[in-house]
Amino acid sequence: MEKVTVIGAGLAGSEAAYQLAKRGIPVRLWEMKRLRKQPAHTEDTFAELVCSNSLRSDRLQNAVGLLKEEMRRLDSLIMQAADATRVPAGGALAVDRHLFSDYVTQRLKAMPQIEIVEEECRDIPEGPCILASGPLTDGELAQAIAARCSGFKLHFHDAVAPIISFDSIDMEKAFFFSRYDRGSDYINCPMNQQEYDAFYDALVGARLADLHEFDRDANIFEGCMPVEVMAGRGRMTLAFGPLKPVGILDPHTGKRPYAVVQLRRENAEGTYYNMVGFQTRLAWPEQKRVFSLIPGLENAEFLRYGVMHRNTYLDSPGFLQADYSVAETPELYFAGQITGVEGYVESAASGMTAGISLARRQMGLPPIDFTGCTVIGSMGQYVSRGLGGAFVPMNANFGLMDPLQGKIHGKKNRQELYVQRALSTLENLVPAVKGEFYEV
Ligand SMILES: Cc1cc2nc3c(=O)[nH]c(=O)nc-3n(C[C@H](O)[C@H](O)[C@H](O)COP(=O)(O)OP(=O)(O)OC[C@H]3O[C@@H](n4cnc5c(N)ncnc54)[C@H](O)[C@@H]3O)c2cc1C
Repeated sequence: MEKVTVIGAGLAGSEAAYQLAKRGIPVRLWEMKRLRKQPAHTEDTFAELVCSNSLRSDRLQNAVGLLKEEMRRLDSLIMQAADATRVPAGGALAVDRHLFSDYVTQRLKAMPQIEIVEEECRDIPEGPCILASGPLTDGELAQAIAARCSGFKLHFHDAVAPIISFDSIDMEKAFFFSRYDRGSDYINCPMNQQEYDAFYDALVGARLADLHEFDRDANIFEGCMPVEVMAGRGRMTLAFGPLKPVGILDPHTGKRPYAVVQLRRENAEGTYYNMVGFQTRLAWPEQKRVFSLIPGLENAEFLRYGVMHRNTYLDSPGFLQADYSVAETPELYFAGQITGVEGYVESAASGMTAGISLARRQMGLPPIDFTGCTVIGSMGQYVSRGLGGAFVPMNANFGLMDPLQGKIHGKKNRQELYVQRALSTLENLVPAVKGEFYEV
């Protein structure tokens, strides 16, 4: 059988190689770390966790927790490694990063179907291939990818404001209104002086995310100043800048607020809103703490936190299909953060989908559609379709899944239904997927 090339033994490439190999497909896995490391990597082993040792929530009521369970049921190598090396972390799944990485490396090295090439891959090879070179892809490979994108952009940086689920905004406090009464496109969160002062003090005292050397160059984000930097220029800079209340009347009071945080619609359905002018480098827990002080956002669900960092990712909608294959050349797949999924687990999940899909293609089997009823399928749909506006990398969240039928009251009830639907959808698929297992 023809060998499949997998480029990069990170979270996505390791999972993809495993899914292919266990189905009996020969794999050539390229990993360059022994010769050259990308700036965030320090170890020679595979599936290195470059920052936190947490794979986030393990609770089913959370989309990334449900995604983990789906991956376990599909026999994920990354989840086996995580479960075998977990350390106590409350409701989160945290791991001993060295044991985790060693586990993945040893399992892949022991698989007879996998040939490991510890060199830098400089071009996209002919034939079936999964490209999983990660968010710091650079050099000749990055140039080859950019050339292959044919009209679709390859981004090298990511500077976005947090995205919040509409459901979680308290509309008793917030209100729809466009400045100068020109419609109702924006959600406005009004602040009085006391609320503004409390928010301001928390913002200027908040902790920043740890920055790597490659993220320090402020010039790459031209015209895009972090909200905390702007705040640092003076107490009233935000109130006269992005939070200015000019032309806005609060219908609850009939008065102009002291300051206003505006949220702009991110998708056609109006289920996602971004915080206007809030691109930020604050650490994620600090974003939750500080931005939840804004009236109306006390219980905000952050579908994506703000970031400003190096991140190589494709303009995937239209370029990639939901199984992460390139629409024009379906033998070529991408996987991992480079596709526009965000996070360790999401990267591994995309590697899983790409690996299963390419294995089935090689075996002459029809494709498996995980559908928008599962988290793993909804991530593929997001990457291939986006939300309609500018495409930004995204974590797993229930808002990306197919909507539930009918009006379901209560967040808890909705979450339970998402979980039930996802697991029963998968139950119907798993025998088909498991049928291809090749024991090693
Ligand atoms: C600095 C930083 C911190 C992050 N922190 C977190 C976090 O705390 N939590 C979280 O959930 N997500 C985090 N992420 C996001 C993301 O989850 C990780 O980057 C994740 O490792 C992505 O998985 P991946 O498989 O796409 O890429 P990677 O895990 O980076 O794997 C890519 C692999 O490809 C190899 N490679 C690249 N080019 C070549 C080549 N030309 N030839 C051969 N091999 C090559 C690399 O050496 C690497 O091993 C972070 C990202 C960055 C950049």
